[in-house]
Amino acid sequence: MATENAATTSGTQDAASGNQPAQIAREVARRRTFGIISHPDAGKTTLTEKLLLFSGAIQLAGTVKGRKSGRHATSDWMDIEKQRGISVASSVMQFEFRDHVINLLDTPGHQDFSEDTYRVLTAVDSALMVIDAAKGVEEQTIKLLDVCRMRNTPIVTFMNKLDRETRDPLELLDEVESVLKIECAPVTWPIGMGKLFRGVYHLLNDEVMLFKAGEEKADGAFEIIKGIDNPRLMEMFPLEMEQLKIEVELVHGASHPFDLQRFLDGKQTPVFFGSAINNFGVREILSSLVEWAPPPRGRDATVREVEPAEPRFSGFVFKIQANMDPAHRDRIAFLRVCSGRFEKGMKVKHLRLGREVKLSQVVTFMASSREQVEEAYSGDIIGLPNHGNMQIGDSFSEGEMLSFTGIPYFAPELFRVVRIRNPLKTKQLQKGLQQLGEEGAVQVFKPVLGSDLILGAVGVLQFEVVASRLMNEYGVDAMFETASISSARWVSSDDKKALSDFEQALAPNVAYDAAGNLAYLATSSVNLRLTEERWPKLKFHATREHA
Ligand code: GDP
Repeated sequence: MATENAATTSGTQDAASGNQPAQIAREVARRRTFGIISHPDAGKTTLTEKLLLFSGAIQLAGTVKGRKSGRHATSDWMDIEKQRGISVASSVMQFEFRDHVINLLDTPGHQDFSEDTYRVLTAVDSALMVIDAAKGVEEQTIKLLDVCRMRNTPIVTFMNKLDRETRDPLELLDEVESVLKIECAPVTWPIGMGKLFRGVYHLLNDEVMLFKAGEEKADGAFEIIKGIDNPRLMEMFPLEMEQLKIEVELVHGASHPFDLQRFLDGKQTPVFFGSAINNFGVREILSSLVEWAPPPRGRDATVREVEPAEPRFSGFVFKIQANMDPAHRDRIAFLRVCSGRFEKGMKVKHLRLGREVKLSQVVTFMASSREQVEEAYSGDIIGLPNHGNMQIGDSFSEGEMLSFTGIPYFAPELFRVVRIRNPLKTKQLQKGLQQLGEEGAVQVFKPVLGSDLILGAVGVLQFEVVASRLMNEYGVDAMFETASISSARWVSSDDKKALSDFEQALAPNVAYDAAGNLAYLATSSVNLRLTEERWPKLKFHATREHA
């Protein structure tokens, strides 16, 4: 049935044979889908650009610079809107490297990151963590790593900016291990730093790559000298080589040897040192992703695990982005393919609505200027334009009733009470918030007492986006006031009585979210802790899965 469909819609022989299991398995095996995570300013944009440059996907450094200005001045909605065009196109980038298809997913790094950032990580198979070696582990990295841990996502670490004065490399590894609670296995080791940065020693290959400053250099241009005892190295850098040998001995003694299985289990991270702006160490990163990072794996769905090489298409939506033109209310749903072969024009079932849809208008994300691909396999991301009928967590398949699990909502950390200036617009407000809530732009809570609605977000930018969209798309002029709430927890229990007692006793702080789940809105962290202690029969959850 699947094959027939593909053949009739495309009319090509290739399309029909593309659904052969062996062909699908081959395509899956050469795919790597990863996200880059970092604290702002660690060098994520620079590294992304160099990855694309190095793989030949873009010709000139600077192409990704649009993303720079995409770091929205938070006060200017038009700016945000304008930048969205860029971010739709560049938040997923696909390119080829050494016969592999790489899908790189951007996680917005600015302080005002939103829930999107987190959910993007449910769509990747591995992550690249960029750390500013002068600063070490920073706040946002900690949060993002917690999210990676939920699915034991394998993580490759890049210690950036070695061309500057940095912290002691051993100390950096120590910090990653103790703060992020993940074993470090250094793969390259820096020789000096700052003005005296000489290069890196590859601990597994026993070779030294010499550093040369310069932005536009291709990675291949760096000279490589084999063997730590090579007399040439001793001649060039006698002092540094002495020091390197001492450090390498220390590293061998004090750190973990690279263990592929522990990496795949998310327990250990291979660590590379380099300088993104100098394109130094970028090839090693790409190679590690191709050689070590996993291709797409099986995914849990409600009825069974779905294997990537299954012949029938399936996938789920992990992100929705409003399109450029607010007048049309178009949205792009980002769908991660989980199995089978997607082909433009194919008919699939939208499971939540029980409706068949024809996927003829699809956005793909090739980073190069080559022709757009018309097919996609597990690990690839496709963009589905829609008018608001697709939601985060929606599953699509070639007919089978399966729903992918594990697409999380995160307990918001910021809260606002919504008020409107014109009470006649109450209906529109409710409709708007309902839709924006479903889309995942913000979380909407309806307290058990009173008629106020409370919005929850993990990034302050979310509120601004919601205010602007309420105005532009629903004609509602809403004001958001600070709420005296510090955190929210979803509450569940097998004991129905305990739940209803709880709801009654703490009514002023109990609310229902847009999907009808009970939540506790705590006024402070002490209040949350005490409440948890006082209601031992209840479970308090910091995340909940998409219904
Ligand atoms: P992002 O916020 O993580 O995307 O970081 P960017 O890529 O925008 O980089 C932040 C700043 O660090 C920019 O000024 C970059 O030019 C600079 N930067 C990035 N990589 C390096 C590097 O390897 N060495 C030095 N010295 N600066 C770098």
